[in-house]
Amino acid sequence: MAPSSRKELGRGERVLPGLWRLRLPLPWPGVPHCNAWAIAAGTGIVLVDTGMHEPGSLAQLERAMDQVNLRLEHVQLLACTHDHSDHWGQAAPIMERAGCELWMHPNHPHATASAGDPQAGLARRLEVGRQSGVPPQALAEYAEEIKDIPSGVARVVEPDHALVNGVTIETDLGVWTAYETPGHAPSHVCLFQPERRLLISGDHVLGRISLFYNYGYTPDPVGEFLASLDTVDALDARLALSGHGKPFVDVHGHIEGNRQLVAERLEAVLTAVGAQPKTALEILPEVYGQPLEFRSASWFLSETLCYLRHLQRQERVRGDADGGVEKWSAIKP
Ligand SMILES: [Zn+2]
Ligand SMILES: [Zn+2]
Repeated sequence: MAPSSRKELGRGERVLPGLWRLRLPLPWPGVPHCNAWAIAAGTGIVLVDTGMHEPGSLAQLERAMDQVNLRLEHVQLLACTHDHSDHWGQAAPIMERAGCELWMHPNHPHATASAGDPQAGLARRLEVGRQSGVPPQALAEYAEEIKDIPSGVARVVEPDHALVNGVTIETDLGVWTAYETPGHAPSHVCLFQPERRLLISGDHVLGRISLFYNYGYTPDPVGEFLASLDTVDALDARLALSGHGKPFVDVHGHIEGNRQLVAERLEAVLTAVGAQPKTALEILPEVYGQPLEFRSASWFLSETLCYLRHLQRQERVRGDADGGVEKWSAIKP
């Protein structure tokens, strides 16, 4: 992914008294920025999420904070909704500057291991591609293309405290409680403030529905994601503060939209599988209705594999190894 030509700038804005959105630029096509959230807490703030690390990125965070009269030194606690680079990548320099702790869910080896050993991370992705029927030539091109893309992580840093179900964070806006919401990432949590019905939803529920799962780290990311939607739906949040985009209301409607899109994709995968054994790569274009492009291929492939695993657990499809390549076929009821 090449850096976008026109660089966005970090921007800070007050959402409510004592709560600020820090909009930070990203170099990703189609995803121009992410959010960190600052919440007043006594003489300082709790910072939720970090933005991604790249040259100049800490200055972008400081620029956004400065616009709302905040400084990195005000951060008393850093909490990350999950371990993706745009939410955790700058944890190390923030902790250094602020002298604060990091709280994050312990299911982070997905990120901490691959950021610490990029070669192993790449080998793992190539193996997934090979098992999915991607030809060796295409895998070699992919490896060549992505080998110089930086990880977006300043330095691997593990949490000081496990942000698991029921852990609370005290702020001037009241107490926030952590809810584990795996699916998008194994480490994902949402934070909920019940009196104000505010939900920091990370990438679990976004204003513009976009599905993504980390494939291969848990048995059934799609099943986990659907269960996490139920978890968050039960909270009856009024306003969602998500990892990308503006705050949004009608949280239930957005959750419902996610459920519908997952159901549609599962149906599309099931239809595409058919009776003849097919590789995930052969299934993919039928699900997304478009030819594969380099940029979207890896994302779509992991997503499709997650649907296949989910359908496999429901005994609606079966996967059989054929010379190291997995082929999928439908199981007729
Ligand atoms: Zn994410
Ligand atoms: Zn994100």
